[in-house]
Amino acid sequence: MKTSLHERTLVLIKPDGVQRGLIGEILTRFEKKGLKIIAMRMAWPDSGLAQKHYDMPESDKILLGERTIASYKEKGVDLKKKPVEIAENVQKRLVKYLTTGPVVAMVIEGAHAIQNVRKIRGATNPLAADVGTITADYTIDSYFLSDPDERAIRNLVHASGSVEEANREIDLWFKTDEINDYELAIEKILYSREWEGARKELTQK
Ligand code: ADP
Ligand code: MG
Repeated sequence: MKTSLHERTLVLIKPDGVQRGLIGEILTRFEKKGLKIIAMRMAWPDSGLAQKHYDMPESDKILLGERTIASYKEKGVDLKKKPVEIAENVQKRLVKYLTTGPVVAMVIEGAHAIQNVRKIRGATNPLAADVGTITADYTIDSYFLSDPDERAIRNLVHASGSVEEANREIDLWFKTDEINDYELAIEKILYSREWEGARKELTQK
């Protein structure tokens, strides 16, 4: 990463996003925010790639499990399972979900890209997501629907959750020469300190 303006994150439009005809809608939301797509490819992951993608350290398993437990608690249900146990079970379902394919994989760059993309994507559980986010606006799934069916929650988009996760996932999905280092004209408006000055000069002429 060059500076914080060049933070990178890996985004997948998951198989339900592709099948629902939402590729364009999802891309538009990231583009309109001012984020930059620097790599993009449609791919059909095999179980090896899906397993690697969802291979997570113990600490992330705990987080995934705890998020699930908290979501149930909000609805007054005490899920009597250990976070790691939940996560390992979810991992298996995720491989099935992702290999249903195809997916659209991309690298997105910009200031606070990881946080911004996660905000636009919305909460993991669409039922708990804020209106205006992708998971709230475009889908209707919840843990309550997915768990009894023993399937992954279908939430249209994957987005890296941390710098370490982003680096690992970008390496997994893209070769270095597939990532394009370029500037968008709008970056001047988004980030340049001189922009107001340059505008003033132009309008005064
Ligand atoms: P996020 O996508 O918000 O980073 P996680 O990394 O915790 O979420 O989990 C990865 C994916 O696993 C989620 O996007 C969702 O599709 C699925 N998932 C997570 N928890 C559960 C669960 N308890 N039951 C079913 N699917 C789940
Ligand atoms: Mg995650």
